[in-house]
Amino acid sequence: MDDTLFGKIIRREIPADIVFEDDDVLGFRDINPQAPLHVLFIPKRQPLPTLDAASEADAPLLGKLLLTAAAFARSEGYADSGYRCVLNCNRDGGQTVYHLHVHLLAGRPLHWPPG
Ligand code: AMP
Repeated sequence: MDDTLFGKIIRREIPADIVFEDDDVLGFRDINPQAPLHVLFIPKRQPLPTLDAASEADAPLLGKLLLTAAAFARSEGYADSGYRCVLNCNRDGGQTVYHLHVHLLAGRPLHWPPG
């Protein structure tokens, strides 16, 4: 497993507010939330730093991250009001932690285009 901050959260070396876990995916609240609901979903096993590093073999994992975020949004009551899933890639994409993650944001109207 990688040695990013998120690797440490997976290994329980640093605390996080974990709201979802199965064999493949960990979900925890963002420490600097940008919406009433802001959860990060990360792969637990494959060391995938960015979306750019993903290949065809990662397609099931990427799909699972999105479906997990959608199921969690529904379970929190945001299916009808809506939500946003964001995946930042590299410098200009605004990525700061190089362990691939999907942001789930919900609970307020989200503007477009993003900043
Ligand atoms: P990104 O900028 O897309 O790489 O997103 C990284 C996210 O990780 C940011 O939204 C940070 O607020 C969040 N973050 C950084 N450290 C922690 C932490 N210890 N626990 C939870 N979220 C964190």
